[in-house]
Amino acid sequence: MIDTHCHVDFKDYNKNREEVIERAKKDLTCIINSGATLGGNRRTLQLIKDHQKFIYGTFGFHPVNAAKAEAVVLKDVKKEILSNLDKAVALGETGLDFYHTTDLEGKRKQEKVFNSFIDLASEYEMPLLVHARDSERKAFEMVKKYSDIPNVVFHCYSGDDATAKDIIDEGYFISVSSMICFSNHHQNLIKDLPLSYMITETDSPYLSPFKGKRNEPSNVKYVVNKIAEIKDQSFDKIDKLTEKNAKKVFRV
Ligand SMILES: [Zn+2]
Repeated sequence: MIDTHCHVDFKDYNKNREEVIERAKKDLTCIINSGATLGGNRRTLQLIKDHQKFIYGTFGFHPVNAAKAEAVVLKDVKKEILSNLDKAVALGETGLDFYHTTDLEGKRKQEKVFNSFIDLASEYEMPLLVHARDSERKAFEMVKKYSDIPNVVFHCYSGDDATAKDIIDEGYFISVSSMICFSNHHQNLIKDLPLSYMITETDSPYLSPFKGKRNEPSNVKYVVNKIAEIKDQSFDKIDKLTEKNAKKVFRV
């Protein structure tokens, strides 16, 4: 199993980060930590160095942060990402979040930053990790214009069936998050989607399958288990398939 999207660098883990990582090591092949801010990218870089061959990282800038960020910060983010590109397995997370950002100016800024990440992924032929909320169709249309991005992942996909199908038809991947453990919408969503374009994530510390608790990467087993249940397949089969997909996407 692979947790393809988590934020182990967050301060939520300051008290027992190593314990959480050790627990993940027992169950998982590897985890992919997603940088969401300038500091997050730096901390992700450190985690990659400290846990080689187990923690991989992506460098990005979360759309909710992008909506509020000053130009100078964005410049620094890009500069640092470019000088550490060889250490990343993908660019992101990046994208659009029209659920949290509702003002026009904020949305425009998100689009601008997202486009700059799409450009980077295209130019350097890096996989792209997309965060899209209440904006899945738009994010999809923006990425689709580029044909030279090696792999595109819609992390924690929460949109509608039609867009999910189009995403997969385009050869992009859907990352199934811990939400599947408790959300009917997410359970229904994967019923008709092919397993060959599915990967798994927890989005830790968010979305715990246990209400009110902090999520952690080792909980990705509950995601695998729920997919197995819905698809009427064995845990083992889903484990192997989703891991194989994730390895292909991120080249880990
Ligand atoms: Zn995230």
